Amino acid sequence: MIIRNVRILGAEPVDIRIADGVIAEIGPDLPGQDEMDGGGAIALPGLVDLHTHLREPGREDAETVQTGTQSAARGGYTAVHAMANTSPVADTAGVVEQVWRLGREFGHCDVHPVGAVTVGLEGRQLAELGAMADSAARVRVFSDDGKCVDDAVLMRRALEYVKAFDGVVAQHAQEPRLTGGAQMNEGVVSGRLGLTGWPAVAEEAIIARDCLLAAHVGSRLHVCHVSTAGSVEILRWAKSKGWNITAEVTPHHLLLTDDLVEESPVGAYNPIYKVNPPLRTRADVEALRAALADGTIDIVATDHAPHPVEDKETEWSAAAMGMVGLETALSVVQEAMVETGLLDWVGVAQRMSVVPARIGRLAGQGRVLEVGAPANITLYDPSVRTKVDPSAFASKSRNTPYEGMTLPGAVVATFLRGRATVLEGKLV
Ligand SMILES: [Zn+2]
Repeated sequence: MIIRNVRILGAEPVDIRIADGVIAEIGPDLPGQDEMDGGGAIALPGLVDLHTHLREPGREDAETVQTGTQSAARGGYTAVHAMANTSPVADTAGVVEQVWRLGREFGHCDVHPVGAVTVGLEGRQLAELGAMADSAARVRVFSDDGKCVDDAVLMRRALEYVKAFDGVVAQHAQEPRLTGGAQMNEGVVSGRLGLTGWPAVAEEAIIARDCLLAAHVGSRLHVCHVSTAGSVEILRWAKSKGWNITAEVTPHHLLLTDDLVEESPVGAYNPIYKVNPPLRTRADVEALRAALADGTIDIVATDHAPHPVEDKETEWSAAAMGMVGLETALSVVQEAMVETGLLDWVGVAQRMSVVPARIGRLAGQGRVLEVGAPANITLYDPSVRTKVDPSAFASKSRNTPYEGMTLPGAVVATFLRGRATVLEGKLV
């Protein structure tokens, strides 16, 4: 099959021939019959998410492996890492293999389960990291995400343990004692609204400690959803030492600020903006954008966190934390990073495909589009602008903070090893 007239990472138009799931030829005016018109779309390597909540097993009312991976494909993703905070928790070989098998069965994108660091995410005892690494799911990323591994001894042991199989510990950096009952970013707005504040130091203290621990034992640390300017400074310092540390930022932390809790198009105290870590200030957003541009923050990860309506459309203090993000991620990154001149499409491909695949040690994903590479391809039209309509999402949940907002760009097609999962913006 030939995809005609696409611009690889925004370069001059070419055709791409796909054979046996692999890119067989790239060039102008390739001969052949079986063809589709790419319409001048930008071709990116299939996106890879290091941080997705698929909710299965246990909360199939919010999302399933099937709907979550359909949502991923619609967003241009060919692989996602499924977080471990399911019910039961993904802390054994049995649970991670179950999630991995469901992903293979549906085939909308590759599913790589994340293994829990501690049994039941309880922070008391290390989970069977080795058994999960050796399982069919071949787990390489371990995280108690949703909770912080706050015990320094356990964190040290986890970092030591994963070295045996080249794994990485992905930390949700949140000092629990400093965030008891916290509802939103601690600052001017939380003071005015009388909501319990979530101080930046609760994130920054854990990141600093974990960087030092990772360096001390010579292991690999990944920092989830960095949200403050101070965290960026700590990471910049730690990376200057040459330590093996990577970090992610979410699309929403690149675009939205905490004053939306006070005043927004959907009113005050709207829990659609309640998320962990919380939305921060304009100065934090600016620092995060600069850090993503200069490589201090390595990647964009969605933290796609689906919740059913009844868990979000309630009073602020009772509402669940989190936002869906897979189907809007690329558009938000275009808005925050490309339209502002901070990143080009080469930079976007690095931060949303190549580097996340490298951190997760995924051999067949995140490859640059060249002859011989697996045909994992996302076609994206950056020229359109559309109003976000959650009722059109493939996700089972609708908790998006972008409803009604006009965002740039649209995923035209997604190919997983040469097979279309999305065509003309619709699931195949
Ligand atoms: Zn988290």
